[in-house]
Amino acid sequence: MMKKLVLSCMSLLMFCSPVWAGRDTLVQVSTIDALLGGLYDGTLSIEELRRDGDFGIGTFDRLNGEMMLVDGVVYRIRSDGGVDVVSGTETTPFAAVTFFDAELQRQIPANTDFKGFQQWLDDLLPNPNLFYAIRIEGRFRFMKTRSVPAQTKPYPALAEVARHQPEFEFKDVEGVIVGYRSPAFVKGIGVPGYHLHFLTSDHRAGGHILAFTVQQASVRTDQTNEILLRLPDSSAFSGADLGKDRSVELKQVEQH
Ligand SMILES: [Zn+2]
Repeated sequence: MMKKLVLSCMSLLMFCSPVWAGRDTLVQVSTIDALLGGLYDGTLSIEELRRDGDFGIGTFDRLNGEMMLVDGVVYRIRSDGGVDVVSGTETTPFAAVTFFDAELQRQIPANTDFKGFQQWLDDLLPNPNLFYAIRIEGRFRFMKTRSVPAQTKPYPALAEVARHQPEFEFKDVEGVIVGYRSPAFVKGIGVPGYHLHFLTSDHRAGGHILAFTVQQASVRTDQTNEILLRLPDSSAFSGADLGKDRSVELKQVEQH
């Protein structure tokens, strides 16, 4: 009887419970190509997303601003440059989160810019084919970010939205950077290479990073060997053309 009870509980767990992520799992909602193609309707609540991690980046329903999840709190950097703490009932169409447990810590050489930082960290991170969560804290001589405004249907493609994106420049600014270095093979699903977001220490500004120069800052990284995809079971996702190569569009969106 007992054995039977245990077995039925196990099968219930297997079939009824969502898959929970471990501390070393990178959990991603949807795919970058779906986002590039204009799938901006939120499919997972922020409350659910926070069960998958205390650290990460992404965007919100209707592409309403840049997401920054740091120390378990979800912030929105709005297209007017302001910042909100986001409630659990809002939703996301695309995000990548994990639980951040630092393994490596280094001081970044002063005056390193975004490109120089990528080369410098590439030399420190041992495996180009694994995911690394990246957290930088410190002071920056220069920081350039962008955000995006909420869109209305029919949604334009992300490259079109990015052509009119508000950009913000800061001088002598203190804050935290959160993001990832992802392997080249993640193309189509995630963002290969570096994808970083910024939040000022006073939590009043930030955005998706386009450029920076370090004054004094340190980086911590967390290697992640597992990826879990939460794919939307929606008619928009079902009808999306996800066979197209969108790497040129991704470059336009990420770096400009
Ligand atoms: Zn971003």
